[in-house]
Amino acid sequence: AKAQIGERICYYEPGMDEIARARRQLANDLRLAVERDELVLLYQPQCQLRSGQLSGYEALVRWHHPLHGLVSPAEFIPIAEESGAILQIGEWVLAQACREAATWHSHHRVAVNVSPVQLVQQDLAPMVGRVLTETGLSASRLELEITESAIITDKVRALNNLRQLKELGVAIAMDDFGTGYSSLDTLHSFPFDKIKIDKSFLLESDQNEQARAIIRAVLALGSSLRIPVLAEGVETASQFELLISEGCEEAQGYFLGRPDRAPSLKSESPDTVPE
Ligand code: C2E
Ligand code: CA
Ligand code: CA
Ligand code: CA
Repeated sequence: AKAQIGERICYYEPGMDEIARARRQLANDLRLAVERDELVLLYQPQCQLRSGQLSGYEALVRWHHPLHGLVSPAEFIPIAEESGAILQIGEWVLAQACREAATWHSHHRVAVNVSPVQLVQQDLAPMVGRVLTETGLSASRLELEITESAIITDKVRALNNLRQLKELGVAIAMDDFGTGYSSLDTLHSFPFDKIKIDKSFLLESDQNEQARAIIRAVLALGSSLRIPVLAEGVETASQFELLISEGCEEAQGYFLGRPDRAPSLKSESPDTVPE
């Protein structure tokens, strides 16, 4: 449909207004979500493939919206990044993950996602340092997962922040490896502690020889750079076996465990169940 407003011609799509309005409303609600205590973290296990041992958990945020119910981070993180609310949300996520991990009986690592928007903020490393002090979590138990898009936006500042974070003793993982533009250049610019192969390759590996070839190539790259590789999106036994036979170090996925409540809230043995 075509509507004439003054001298401008607007191509009007029924529903577009609604979508834009809903997005603005969501951005407003997001600003309040932290204050209203509507965000929660789930934790997904990450396992060592050779020993079969649990090595840590990735914290994944969820939003319990008062009207829309559970909103996926894939939906609200991009909106939060656009509106700037991600800074407040990101700090809450970090503090909450560190606070919870400090209470776990086990001393497993916790991996926290850091938005590209956060990674170019000047005060990122001091903020992380403050959270570690306040929560009492040892820096060696924290891993930050970053994607390379921040390094493309403002390389100098992003790399500077990453160096400061490493000085704190925090580990840095490159997330979603294989989906960006300059992965190899980024790997060359900074000593990452881990490479996470994007789940899209694993998910296609059963039918697609190309995807298997890419997984092998990333594992070879990690091994020659001496950077351990974690494969995400392991859903089936055959994908799990492929990773073991190819010598992948770590894995994460529904086959090993779905994102779930904080490990400390689950009883580890029947003896500890409070009656
Ligand atoms: P991601 O960092 O790549 O996280 C992995 C996503 O894959 C998670 O989705 C996880 O639930 C899902 N996943 C795990 N195992 C499997 C599997 O076997 N099969 C399939 N198909 N999917 C699997 P989730 O929790 O919906 O998060 C989506 C994205 O939202 C994350 O992708 C991350 O980019 C972002 N995100 C989540 N939490 C945070 C956060 O606290 N801060 C920031 N900045 N981003 C976050
Ligand atoms: Ca991640
Ligand atoms: Ca990922
Ligand atoms: Ca992703």
